[in-house]
Amino acid sequence: MKNAVILAIGNELVEGLILDTNSRYLSQKLKLAGWYVIRTETLPDNFEIMKDRVAKALEDAELLITTGGLGPTDDDITREAVSAVINRSLVINNNLVEELTKRALKYYGKSAKSVSKQAMIIEGAEILDNPVGTAPGQFLQIGGKTIILLPGPPSELIPIFENVYEKIKTNDSLYTRRIKTIGIPEAILMEEYKDVIYSNPEITVATMASYERGVEVRFTGPFILKDSIDTICSRLLLLLGDSVYAVDNSDIQDTVYNTLKKNGLTVSFAESCTGGLLSSTFVDLPGASDVYKGGIVAYSNDSKTEILQVCKETIETYGAVSEECVREMARNCRVLFNSDFSVAVSGIAGPSGGTEEKPVGTVCIALATPKEVFSSTQHLRGDRNSIRKRSTLLAFDMLRRGVLEWLRLQELSRK
Ligand code: AMP
Ligand code: MG
Repeated sequence: MKNAVILAIGNELVEGLILDTNSRYLSQKLKLAGWYVIRTETLPDNFEIMKDRVAKALEDAELLITTGGLGPTDDDITREAVSAVINRSLVINNNLVEELTKRALKYYGKSAKSVSKQAMIIEGAEILDNPVGTAPGQFLQIGGKTIILLPGPPSELIPIFENVYEKIKTNDSLYTRRIKTIGIPEAILMEEYKDVIYSNPEITVATMASYERGVEVRFTGPFILKDSIDTICSRLLLLLGDSVYAVDNSDIQDTVYNTLKKNGLTVSFAESCTGGLLSSTFVDLPGASDVYKGGIVAYSNDSKTEILQVCKETIETYGAVSEECVREMARNCRVLFNSDFSVAVSGIAGPSGGTEEKPVGTVCIALATPKEVFSSTQHLRGDRNSIRKRSTLLAFDMLRRGVLEWLRLQELSRK
């Protein structure tokens, strides 16, 4: 396996103001591409330190990836440091100046002189187009080494890297699949399905259990085992059925969105303790408007009765955190938004507000479908944040299962 080094550059990283997520992303990707990442370093915007670490990286590794320091300001000097170490000059690319000026005029109405700095390309380097921002990446091969310069913002780095990925894939590249489940404890899942999960000893199996994300089983092996990994996944998917909420890079909200969209169905949310997390998570998805009608954060009892028309007696008799209350919230929200489905959540996220009967972590969730209303009471643990995130996962899961069930019933009634 060949060696790679990642240098994440920026004062904001070494000062702890921004978390270096680029190295994490690149390390995972490089492993899949068949590289051995011998180290990742975070460096300040300091010319001498950068030169020293770039030189050392090129001594030790065949691939060097830098992130950051490609911006227009004076502190961004990655190109300068790399070009000094490899002794290649920086050449201004006039097409790029024109393109960047055009983009600046379009976005900001004016263009700074510094665009010419971002159009400086190391002699012999290929420009890696940046569809999102301004600073392009650079790709260079020199004396058997590959050097890739990427901009710092993750939203720019990721699409540029995705485009260059095929180029740096080695013969040692790996294939990986992920199956994300909810509802089966990790130990039981691994025990009951071990014959399938461990059916090929050459495939590495990793499980990750998280309270906020359920249990994920990940299969990784050399690319030549792709068919074997796919077969194991297909068998496992069949066995696990509805317990699988998503596969590979997708998440539960993607699954819910895709299922609703495919069937022309819509949803709305009535939230109390999740405070808009369900809506916010959903609206993160591009195209959410195809299926999402809207949501209400009804935090106080008054808003539950006045906006969502929950009966005062329901709250007086059973409390705002009760299945009776969330059932009314979901049913009425569905009517208010004229959506096919509606999910309601009300709970005690803590740290205060718990009672003996309803301790912190008591969360009630309801789903209104075109036909009926389902509800459940959960007893969650952890801090406020963890309880709210787990509630969101469970609410999406109730929706996912409810939609699947409803689609099955529809299918049956058509037969
Ligand atoms: P730069 O390319 O140096 O101008 O970086 C611009 C911005 O990208 C920084 O202010 C950070 O917000 C972000 N950024 C830079 N490096 C990283 C990194 N390693 N991980 C996550 N974000 C980063
Ligand atoms: Mg910077």
